[in-house]
Amino acid sequence: MYQSRIEEFKQENTARRVFLSVFVVASLGVILPAKANGGEFSRLSESDPMAKALGYTHISDSKEKTCVNCGLYQGETGDEWGRCSIFPNKMVNANGWCKSWIASKG
Ligand code: SF4
Repeated sequence: MYQSRIEEFKQENTARRVFLSVFVVASLGVILPAKANGGEFSRLSESDPMAKALGYTHISDSKEKTCVNCGLYQGETGDEWGRCSIFPNKMVNANGWCKSWIASKG
């Protein structure tokens, strides 16, 4: 009697472990690619309160003053979106602009 109950318990535990392992692996499959693609940083919306306050727009009116040639832009050349030190945890459009634009030293 006890032996069969112990066997049942072991089988339930094994099934539970398999279920949890599959769940953890499946969850990592969803989370890791998002981080690898910069998922931690969402694209800045023009309707974001701080973006509005700084007049941020995804497309600059001036070709000479865009995010990609701003001293505060942290994106890589050629990227459509990049980080900006004014908007933490957000990405701005390389062709964008805001009132905080400053000339890049490089
Ligand atoms: S400070 Fe403004 S212009 Fe400069 S990169 Fe950031 S959003 Fe673009």
